Amino acid sequence: MASILGLSALFVCFPFFSSSPFRHSFTLSSCLQSRADIPSATTWDPPSSMTTGLDQVWARTLQENPNWSDDKNWIMDQLIANNGSINYCVRWNTAAHKSTASDRTKIEAGLQRSLKKWFDTLVGFDGFPLTTLAVKVVGYATKDKSMIEGDTSAIDVYTTVDADGVPECDPRCYRAAHLDGDLSGCPSGAAGRYDISLWLDESLEGQNAGYGYNWGEELAPDYVLDNLDTENIHILQHEMGHGFGLLDFYDWVPEGQTSFVMMAGSAMEVTEFDAWMLRDWWRRLKAVRRW
Ligand SMILES: [Zn+2]
Repeated sequence: MASILGLSALFVCFPFFSSSPFRHSFTLSSCLQSRADIPSATTWDPPSSMTTGLDQVWARTLQENPNWSDDKNWIMDQLIANNGSINYCVRWNTAAHKSTASDRTKIEAGLQRSLKKWFDTLVGFDGFPLTTLAVKVVGYATKDKSMIEGDTSAIDVYTTVDADGVPECDPRCYRAAHLDGDLSGCPSGAAGRYDISLWLDESLEGQNAGYGYNWGEELAPDYVLDNLDTENIHILQHEMGHGFGLLDFYDWVPEGQTSFVMMAGSAMEVTEFDAWMLRDWWRRLKAVRRW
């Protein structure tokens, strides 16, 4: 289990250590920069300052995940299968916070805003067929329904738990468990389908840390709730990057790079280097999947 550095920790342009797979700690750097303006691209033509680094990243990807294309549930797969629609289940595993209707609206908007930072880098690039992203939260899972306050008529509220006792939405509605597309067992029908989860877990309360993969993002409840109005919820963006297959960079740095969101703590938002790593995944996955 990783140790977690607090915000007051080291001020360098380089984060440290990792830990157990998929756990990501964030030591915020003093040299964070805004990189919001990412030039769009239509073909594989990264800036020359990035080409060596991108080659290194892909070589490392093959090392860390040699079966990279066998997994049919990357966020890219979800986007293509659903024509740009991504449905979320929120796993409310915290007794310290109640879910208000107002916060639920903001959580849905925050997921849309954050995933769109990644999505927009693909629009118009190398045959990527989508221009519109539609993120919707279709369900909340909780141990106690009274934690989900206000009008819940537009969502499914589940009180079932997984094998570890963590609330989860109905697996019969989870796309990854039904990659043949048959969700006929989902009690609320096609509208109840979810592709991915946002998991707020009390074990992470107070920590700048998270987990992410193509099942979703696990974050600290207070971090999410305190940042609902933040334009760039950078830990969420980072964990979403793992859902696309992107790596961590705790023990090495691609040549010429100092600041990008997948290098935890070195950037506060998706940067151009992150965009090119994602575009690299798109062109390679497109070829394998024959999209
Ligand atoms: Zn990470």
